[in-house]
Amino acid sequence: MNQAPSLLPLTIAPAQILRGDKILASAGSTIARLGTSPLIIGGDRALQAIAPILSPILAQHSLPIATAQVSECSEATLGELRQAVSTHQANLIIGTGGGKALDAAKLLAHQCGLPIVTIPTSAATCAAWTALANIYSPEGAFLYDVTLSRCPDLLVLDYSLIATAPQRTLVAGIGDAIAKWYEASVSSGTSEQTLIIAAVQQARILRDILFQKSAAALEAPGSTIWQEVVDATVLLAGVIGGIGGAQCRTVAAHAVHNGLTHIPASHGTLHGEKVAFGILVQLRLEEMILGNQLAAAARQQLLKFYSEIGLPQTLDDLGLGNITLGELRQAAEIATAPNSDIHRLPFTVIPDQLMAATISTTVPADAIRYPAGNSCSGSQLEDAK
Ligand SMILES: [Zn+2]
Repeated sequence: MNQAPSLLPLTIAPAQILRGDKILASAGSTIARLGTSPLIIGGDRALQAIAPILSPILAQHSLPIATAQVSECSEATLGELRQAVSTHQANLIIGTGGGKALDAAKLLAHQCGLPIVTIPTSAATCAAWTALANIYSPEGAFLYDVTLSRCPDLLVLDYSLIATAPQRTLVAGIGDAIAKWYEASVSSGTSEQTLIIAAVQQARILRDILFQKSAAALEAPGSTIWQEVVDATVLLAGVIGGIGGAQCRTVAAHAVHNGLTHIPASHGTLHGEKVAFGILVQLRLEEMILGNQLAAAARQQLLKFYSEIGLPQTLDDLGLGNITLGELRQAAEIATAPNSDIHRLPFTVIPDQLMAATISTTVPADAIRYPAGNSCSGSQLEDAK
């Protein structure tokens, strides 16, 4: 009532979505309506997978294409891509691949004022959907994110392309998607704004769908249940980011991810794997600092789920079992920097506490003693099973 009206535009969803098995092969005319000179951006694997499908359909519409390979969404990469836009006189950007390539393509289109098509080749993130891009250093350390003016003009979700990605990418996508509930319920669980309430509830539905269907989906790639899980990680996770906006995006799980990316040994693992580990760390912080027993119960529930589907539970599982105390401290300091989303937690976190939480993600709940009468307060846990 006494809140100032938000000046931020709503960026809820892509303008158009084509979805289906081998749907890319019939997407030519829809893509051609968006531009006459496309620049295709993608990782090595994505460009190889997509070229045999995309080249002939764009040729049918007489669209001259150029390609640019990216491995990192960094400022240097963006500079090279802007050069490629000008050389090719591109008037349409087609982003293909995983989160970093899609982010680079979306940000390039935003900077150049061009339409953007996203074609994800894995279900590892909801980057194909959102109006957000993460910028990394050339070495792969997370630096900052950029809010874009709109979601993509067209998203092509072709299940047969997603099925060519390593299974591990879908597992990571599941980790990134369930984080929405653990983060949004903490940052926005008490919001009275209609769209935020809706986003938080959708995040719970998303988590429950993934709890119920992930194990069966991973056993049957390409099946109907597998497609439902892909829809959850690529589409529904994007819907939540769209209707929730910046306010219900990330808290500690992503802050932990951001800190870990500054340790070189973390670069062998995927975004969603580090975020999934970050959820456990976030729950440990609630246990340690608030004495929240429901957080302990939620963590035990997640550990069981993670062992079923293969998400990392410890630093060791992330390939970080041999990092130094100095590296761990550096990651904790970055994750607790003044502008970090970790401060959306309803309590203060200092690096020492974060380090302690990071190395104790699998401690059994019954090994912890809580002060009497301090049983709960974490909003995300009211229905922990
Ligand atoms: Zn994420």
